[in-house]
Amino acid sequence: MERIVEVEKLNLESDYEVSLRPGNWDEYIGQEKIKKNLQVFIKAAQKRNEALDHVLFFGPPGLGKTTLANIIANQMHANIKTTAAPMIEKSGDLAAILTNLEEGDILFIDEIHRLSPAIEEILYPAMEDYRLDIIIGSGPAAQTIKLDLPRFTLIGATTRAGMISSPLRDRFGMHFRLQFYTTEELAQIVHKASVKLGCRAQKDACIETARRSRGTPRIALRLLKRIRDYAEVADEEEIMLARTKYALDELGVDERGFDEMDMRFLELLIQAKGRPMGLGTIAATLSEDEGTIEDVIEPYLIANGFIEKTARGRIATPKTYELFRLSPAGLGEKPTLFDQE
Ligand code: ADP
Repeated sequence: MERIVEVEKLNLESDYEVSLRPGNWDEYIGQEKIKKNLQVFIKAAQKRNEALDHVLFFGPPGLGKTTLANIIANQMHANIKTTAAPMIEKSGDLAAILTNLEEGDILFIDEIHRLSPAIEEILYPAMEDYRLDIIIGSGPAAQTIKLDLPRFTLIGATTRAGMISSPLRDRFGMHFRLQFYTTEELAQIVHKASVKLGCRAQKDACIETARRSRGTPRIALRLLKRIRDYAEVADEEEIMLARTKYALDELGVDERGFDEMDMRFLELLIQAKGRPMGLGTIAATLSEDEGTIEDVIEPYLIANGFIEKTARGRIATPKTYELFRLSPAGLGEKPTLFDQE
C-alpha cells in the first residue's frame, strides 16, 4: 500500500526535492545544535587546510541527512559523490569509488549499516590512513597491494543506530543524531517551499500542514505538493487553511499525521491488552515489511509516546488508549460526561 506519509528508505530523490533542497545553513531550518557544531568543525578544518573528519548521521528517513551532507560539501567547496550501501556489492565497487576520489572530496554513503563486513574491512584503512589494501590472488601466494588515497571525508547516514558495527562507528570522528522537527520549524520549511513552488501558503495553512507531517520535512514537502494540486485545481492563488484541511483529509492524513497504517498498528497493540507484541507478528498481521515498521512507522510513534519498545516487544501506552477512548486496562469505553450522570 502506498502511504502519503511514507518516506522512502533510500534517497531516490525526485526533482522537486532537489530544487527544494536547502543549499546553505540559512535555508536549513532546525537541528540547531548539529548546525552549530558542524559550522565550528568546518571552519577549523578550513583553517588547518585539511579535509573534514568523517561524519556519521543517525535518524529516521526524511529528516535531512542527505541535505546536511550536501551543505557540508558546499561549505567545504568540495565535490560530493553520493552512493548507498546496497549499491556497493563487491569490494571492487568500493575500490573503484575510492580510487576515483580527489583530494578533499566528500563521499556520502546512505544506509551505511547495510555494508557487508568484507566491504567494511576495506573502508577501515581507507578512513584511518587513506590507504587501500587490495589483495590479489588467494592462499599462500596472495599479495597485498597498498594504494595511497587522497584525503577525503566520508559522510555516512543510517536510519539504524543500533545496526552499525562498532568498529565502523568508531572510525567516524563526529556522530550526530537528527531529531524530529517541531511544528514551528516544519511550518517555516513549508512556507519557504511554497514560495519556491510559486504558490504561497498562508501562515495557518503552513502550521496545519506542519502538524500533520510527523515531524519530517520530506513528508511536509510531499503533502505541500499535493495540497498545491488541490489549490490549483480550485483556482486559488494562495494556499489557504480550509483547502489545506480538505486536501489532507482527502489524503487520509489525520490531525496527528497518522494514516490508516498507523491506526491499524496502534489498534493491534491495544488488542494485545498490554501483552508485548513482537515485530514479526506485527509485520505479518499488517502485511508490512519489518524494516519499514522499524524505520518508518515506529520512530515517530515512539518519539511521541504512543508506543513503547520493550525487550519482549511493543506495547501501547496510556496515550494510545486515550486516543481510542479506552482505559489502559483496555476494558472498555471511558465514561463520557453523560454516562457519569
Ligand atoms: P534524509 O537524507 O534524512 O532521508 P533528506 O536530506 O533527503 O533526508 O531530506 C528530505 C527532504 O526534506 C529534502 O528534500 C530537503 O529539501 C528537505 N529538508 C530536510 N531537512 C530540511 C531542513 N532542515 N530545512 C529545510 N528542508 C529540509
